[in-house]
Amino acid sequence: MDLEKNTANVLQEISKVAQEAGRSPEDINIIAVTKYVDLKTTKEIIALGIKHIGENRVDKFLSKYEALSNESIVWHFIGSLQRRKVKEIINKIDYFHALDSLNLAKEIQKRAEHPIKCFLQVNISGEESKHGFSLEEIDNVINTLIEYDKISIVGIMTMAPIDANSEELTDIFKTANELRLTLKDRKLKNMPLTDLSMGMSRDYKVAIQNNATYVRIGTAFFS
Ligand SMILES: *Cc1c(COP(=O)(O)O)cnc(C)c1O
Repeated sequence: MDLEKNTANVLQEISKVAQEAGRSPEDINIIAVTKYVDLKTTKEIIALGIKHIGENRVDKFLSKYEALSNESIVWHFIGSLQRRKVKEIINKIDYFHALDSLNLAKEIQKRAEHPIKCFLQVNISGEESKHGFSLEEIDNVINTLIEYDKISIVGIMTMAPIDANSEELTDIFKTANELRLTLKDRKLKNMPLTDLSMGMSRDYKVAIQNNATYVRIGTAFFS
């Protein structure tokens, strides 16, 4: 692995894709998903200028969070979170990308000491193996979340199937943005809905073409 080269390639590619899509590269926040690597490599990518770090396991998050407390990092928790583990991390993270059940929302409301920036995870493709609310559930979900002052819905998060072709990717990411705009128009008090968390190593280009503001990238950096 040549981390310096990989990082330069990803940054350059994102900047190019953004410009081609008529977007400003600064509007795309790049999260390095460090679940594949140890503390040393995580420190190296931070030294290369990456400010957003994402983890999907509570134990790994906590060990890196504690070891890197001197760095100015924006911490993202991107994986599904068990209810009983909410209290261990919820007041440490800056963004939670996987709000995927109302039971989880209730627990966050109970444990959070300040409003937590959350992405509503939506399973747009309908793949059974994927977490997230279905599009049909969203109205009901919003009606409950509106009562929770410790949850701020900053955007929609979605994942596309591994084998989706570019047409399917476009469909999924476009739908995520449309859902975001429809809900944003309702101007609900704890739901700014300014952001879209979508795009991983294999599909971030299509995600950026469809207005992603947070891309979550692991493999392209760390392999
Ligand atoms: C692992 C992971 C990623 C990064 O995936 P890559 O394909 O390695 O870029 C992004 N999002 C989530 C939720 C993940 O678990």
